[in-house]
Amino acid sequence: MTHFKDTIIIGAGLTGLVIGHKINKRHPEHQVLLLEKSASTGGVISSFSESGYLAEYGPHGFLDNCAESRELLEETGLEAECVRAPLKTFVRYVCIDSKLMLIPQSPLKIIKAPLIPWSDKLRVVSELFKKPLSGEPTVAKWAEYRFGSALLPYVDAVFTGTYAGDYNELKIDAVMPGLRQMEKEHGSIIRGAIAKARQARKSRGKGQKLQMPSMTSFPDGMQRLPQRLTELLGQERIRLNCEVTTIHQSPQGEWLVETAQETFRAANLVLALPVNQSLKLLSTLAGEPPLKKIPEAWIATVVFGFGQAALPPGFGYLNPEREQRFTLGTLFSSNMFPNRAPDGHVVFETLIGGRRHPERLELDDETLIEQALADVKALIELPDTPLFSRVLRPSGGIPQLEKGYSRLLHWRNELVHKNPGLYVCGFGWEGIGLNDMIKSACLIGDTILSKEVQTQEQAEAKKIYF
Ligand SMILES: Cc1cc2nc3c(=O)[nH]c(=O)nc-3n(C[C@H](O)[C@H](O)[C@H](O)COP(=O)(O)OP(=O)(O)OC[C@H]3O[C@@H](n4cnc5c(N)ncnc54)[C@H](O)[C@@H]3O)c2cc1C
Repeated sequence: MTHFKDTIIIGAGLTGLVIGHKINKRHPEHQVLLLEKSASTGGVISSFSESGYLAEYGPHGFLDNCAESRELLEETGLEAECVRAPLKTFVRYVCIDSKLMLIPQSPLKIIKAPLIPWSDKLRVVSELFKKPLSGEPTVAKWAEYRFGSALLPYVDAVFTGTYAGDYNELKIDAVMPGLRQMEKEHGSIIRGAIAKARQARKSRGKGQKLQMPSMTSFPDGMQRLPQRLTELLGQERIRLNCEVTTIHQSPQGEWLVETAQETFRAANLVLALPVNQSLKLLSTLAGEPPLKKIPEAWIATVVFGFGQAALPPGFGYLNPEREQRFTLGTLFSSNMFPNRAPDGHVVFETLIGGRRHPERLELDDETLIEQALADVKALIELPDTPLFSRVLRPSGGIPQLEKGYSRLLHWRNELVHKNPGLYVCGFGWEGIGLNDMIKSACLIGDTILSKEVQTQEQAEAKKIYF
């Protein structure tokens, strides 16, 4: 038996790296060690580069409207490297009746836009008088109850774009806890949103306009973020190719972490893992969880490069399920960030699979390319043959917060409460986005150093950007 550490972190994806970085930056004398099963850090964050085309296996970027993420960029020196695509100028589209409908980014412009008939807009406004919906409804059921059915394809598009999920399965309390809170507090989402906007205007001060966030990445792709955190932590704090097989606690209260190579001991143990991978390890430590695993949505991305093609302006488009398309949507990557394609060329990335169509991921690369191209060509004018095409298959699926997830979260909270020094966080536990991961990682880093339990702020009602 070797190696006692103050803190061991299992998983060197973004969550684990940020916790390690925060601890190391504030208290370099605190002995922290990250154990990572694969040969590199970053988890599902991985950028692809070939023949002058740059694309992503996993996340494409994050919005710069999260204080913790902005602070991370500053303290890692990455702020100076960022590339940004402002939402104000980069529109998105939703495919409705086989046509791309432009979604404006301001609520007033959305109301005026011809997205749904005026009679349905009146139904949306009647939300003001709808009582909060009880129970744990799905997103689709909740959205239909509050706003009527006309908005459903747009709601579907939002959850296709974020979770690659099925809004008939995702639970509103799990995926939008802030909105649910707003519904309960104000009796209406519209009323709550107006109150929030007033409050924000007051704190901004007179004359100052609301700033819209920007999608943020790096010149060589998202991989730069874990790469920089890895550099700052140093090789001595990260063990690669080191899969944790079992965790338990000694009678003295030390955490014992077993890998194929050796057993580590620690005062604090952090599981910075996707929900299902945490559950696997926790099975030896805790009683039966309410769910053995949660569903995941896996996708494949097809990267297409063209010369002489003109993409529509903006970020890209999403396909609600009722459109019965082969793809989930397309990102106009070379519109978003500079140098994603050779000069005079464009690159876009088309997403396939998701919660509803895992069977499509069984198709071979050639078929995926052929069918994805046909699907995009029906919506956008393109030359016959792409100059470049590749299929990227990410290393992880997106956790789906569906039936039983609230009970699972409650179980996790109780477990952590009963086991001082144990922390369980990561992909799917506190949301699924990079900002969610960074936020919860910062909180855990602070808690470990202060040894005081920091309570998570009230769930925030996040703005919805298409
Ligand atoms: C296809 C895709 C697209 C996405 N797009 C976006 C986007 O555009 N914007 C956005 O904000 N978010 C996006 N996300 C979500 C975002 O990528 C995640 O929130 C974030 O990267 C999760 O980081 P993590 O460290 O918690 O988990 P992971 O990245 O999954 O890292 C966990 C790490 O733990 C390691 N590990 C697992 N088990 C063990 C073990 N037993 N022992 C040791 N190590 C272990 C794994 O190898 C991995 O490196 C996307 C995710 C996916 C999959």
